[in-house]
Amino acid sequence: MINTAESVWGNCLKFIKDNITPQAYNTWFEPIIAVKLTDNALSIQVPSKFFYEWLEEHYVKLLRVALNKNLGKDAKLIYVIKMEHKRDKSSSFTEKIPSTQRSRVNAQEVSMALSSKSPELKNPFVIPGIRNLKIDSQLNSLYNFDNFLEGGSNRLARSAAKAVAAKPGGTSFNPLLIFGGVGLGKTHLAHAVGVDVKEKHPNKTVLYISAEKFTQQYIESVRKNTRNDFIHFYQIIDVLIVDDIQLMSGKKGTQEVFFHIFNHLHQNGKQVILTSDKAPVDMQEIEKRLLSRFKWGLSAELLKPDLDTRKKIINNKLFQDGVEIEESIVDFVAQNIKTNIRELEGAIISLIAHSSFNKEEVDLKLAQRIVENYVHNSTKEISIEQIQKVVSSYFQMDVDTLQSKTRKRHIVQARQIAMFFAKKLTKASLASIGKQIGNRDHATVLHACKTVNNLSSTDKQFKKFVEDLDKRLLE
Ligand code: ADP
Ligand code: MG
Repeated sequence: MINTAESVWGNCLKFIKDNITPQAYNTWFEPIIAVKLTDNALSIQVPSKFFYEWLEEHYVKLLRVALNKNLGKDAKLIYVIKMEHKRDKSSSFTEKIPSTQRSRVNAQEVSMALSSKSPELKNPFVIPGIRNLKIDSQLNSLYNFDNFLEGGSNRLARSAAKAVAAKPGGTSFNPLLIFGGVGLGKTHLAHAVGVDVKEKHPNKTVLYISAEKFTQQYIESVRKNTRNDFIHFYQIIDVLIVDDIQLMSGKKGTQEVFFHIFNHLHQNGKQVILTSDKAPVDMQEIEKRLLSRFKWGLSAELLKPDLDTRKKIINNKLFQDGVEIEESIVDFVAQNIKTNIRELEGAIISLIAHSSFNKEEVDLKLAQRIVENYVHNSTKEISIEQIQKVVSSYFQMDVDTLQSKTRKRHIVQARQIAMFFAKKLTKASLASIGKQIGNRDHATVLHACKTVNNLSSTDKQFKKFVEDLDKRLLE
């Protein structure tokens, strides 16, 4: 049988597929096209220079083994980088590079070829029709420094943010990572930096984006084969603000591409601002090398606001809305809503609404009623059903499996952990817990709780499972 480029590459792919995760395979190997075979040299076409670098960095060994298996030990691999310019066919070009394992590639040659044609930027934030590239910053000007009230809980983060806004890329706070719990002002502060930069440095390109949207865009770019454009787009930003980076957890492809963009920006003195609901040490399933980048600059925490700051925030809100409320009521609200500024604001808005729409007098009784709603809602008991969902998804099984009669160890353990948390986090009886988790009796539940306690103190990995889940269940 005669070997063709396709048949050889097809065989290589079979081997590669068995040795890496399906995601990695889909991302990095699916898009490759075998183009030529001469003697023992196989040419494969990859979509971008970055793609080629990535393959060389991560998969060169695997590629070599696969190739040697199919073409003998003198096998050669040649990359062909293809840049597609859909508008103008004649401008597409290819660049041939021998695999670095044979001769170190002349990177300059490649990048020269690439930079001679700037790629077409396809990005939802680019406003069409404007000659000089203009990017909509996606900033909310209502989130600024003026209305971000200062207090002990946010002083460090706020000052660092101000310093960064004054000299983006020019401080040692790069990246600036703002972290803290829900509703403590991360998004507000991140916008404030961007808004301030736009005022002080109108020529700088600022972009605010949530990690979630970034991920969606990235996936879309892979699907449409415009990954290159995606990367190029982000590389021209002067101040990049990515909100809620914890949402990149477990998303390898997104992290990889963000790592690449981050390095490029950082090397070029551009500013990166990140927010997260966790400190870097507590971030799970974020690649080590990316985490280490996060630690390069400054991690500033937003703490829960103290009573004074809470009062200031309430009074400011009232002032802005032109409403007056007795100080004792402001006090009462500030005393009782402690952990979340969004809820604090919510309660005040609710008070204002009651007083103006229902013509109710804002007295302590009304304040009590409203505050109760907030405090009550935020500490609502989790259900056993919810616990089972969270635990089974954590262990990547479905709830039916978790409840099944099997004796497989990892399933038994998952079930025991679910029972343990049901006991810990709900008021349900042992019997009721057993009934809801796979129809077991109360003794089984009791045994499960003991086992989880024991294993947590003897088995490190197991302890980590329990701690992770503890956090997830409290969210
Ligand atoms: P996070 O992103 O941390 O969940 P947000 O930035 O969305 O929190 O803040 C929640 C609400 O609290 C927003 O309306 C924000 O304006 C307000 N807020 C937070 N911190 C402050 C502050 N220091 N001064 C005034 N308002 C604040
Ligand atoms: Mg936020």
